[in-house]
Amino acid sequence: MKIRTDVAEMLRAGHSDTEVARGLHVDRKAVAKARAALSIPKHPRGPEPAATVEDLFQQRVAPTEGGHMEWTGYVAHTTPALRHQGRLTSAYRVAFRIANGREPEGYALPSCGRDGCVMPGHHADRADRKRAEAKAAVTRAWVRGRKRAARALERERAKAEAAREQRLDALYADIFGDSA
Ligand SMILES: [Zn+2]
Repeated sequence: MKIRTDVAEMLRAGHSDTEVARGLHVDRKAVAKARAALSIPKHPRGPEPAATVEDLFQQRVAPTEGGHMEWTGYVAHTTPALRHQGRLTSAYRVAFRIANGREPEGYALPSCGRDGCVMPGHHADRADRKRAEAKAAVTRAWVRGRKRAARALERERAKAEAAREQRLDALYADIFGDSA
């Protein structure tokens, strides 16, 4: 049997037959058949499963110009935060997890230059900050190295200039003697 993609998606997301039928304006019996064909167990009765922290995050962000996102939810001191299962979590941490698929090392903080940005992918953790610092150190060393190279070139140039002067002196001495 042919199963509509949107029906399959809603069933896999854990919605009941009634919800799918209502949401997509399809026959409830057809939804039940699709469920059987896909071997998805019936939606359990009882309370809705609790929203994940990522769901809560999605409900509290608004895109801004420049590809950033601002937080419309609770702010703890200056940090966008959300409460999930009784625990307060930084929205930066959730954004970091969404972008990187892992927990940050230490604190996740915006690294895009926009204060309070919660756009996933715009945060650095301690490991990222260490890497950025190491990179900056390499750049500084390189610039210092270039300065040294420039000074060496300058010394070379001065030496060449002095040698030329000496050659001229010798030449003039040959021609004019010491009186020139
Ligand atoms: Zn940003």
